[in-house]
Amino acid sequence: MPAGFPDFRLGSVLATSFTATLTERRGDAVERIPTPQRLVDWLAVSGLAVDSCTTAQLELARELRESIHAAATAAALHDALPASAVQVINDRSIQGRAAAILTPEGNRQWRLSSPSCLEDALGVIAADAISIIAGERDGKLALCASPTCRAAFFDTSQSRTRKWCDMNTCGNRQKKARFNANQRKNGTRASVP
Ligand SMILES: [Zn+2]
Repeated sequence: MPAGFPDFRLGSVLATSFTATLTERRGDAVERIPTPQRLVDWLAVSGLAVDSCTTAQLELARELRESIHAAATAAALHDALPASAVQVINDRSIQGRAAAILTPEGNRQWRLSSPSCLEDALGVIAADAISIIAGERDGKLALCASPTCRAAFFDTSQSRTRKWCDMNTCGNRQKKARFNANQRKNGTRASVP
């Protein structure tokens, strides 16, 4: 991984892993695909390898990302879906021409119409977003409890009571904050950063 770029926050759900390429949206936002090459890197680790990306394609990807974020947030809040976001998601889904391929081992892979067709990869992400927003998959859309994050995530826990988009980041930070607050209340100095 190239040095100097923020690492990726990869989860098990493609669409929300994609929206997590911009984190801390309500705080000091961190752009995790700041260059076209970083989008290529993200797609490679997400099973959607492409051989190149232009600045215009990166813009298209970010537009899709923000549209998924807006629509998933509305769905989590049981609000009406923003029409412009729905339009972008549908446009990307319609334009993509990736095919699902079954491997001899019984796994699904995506085959793009051409290795340079980043739009195909975006189509796969858009379709994934549609399946979770439409409620087709087993799980529940929810918003991260961290006030600086508020990311939409897909809760597949049995009880559907997950509070944070990511236990290792938002969940941990919240725990530390609570620990420090308790230490202060008890009059001892917090020793956990
Ligand atoms: Zn979060």
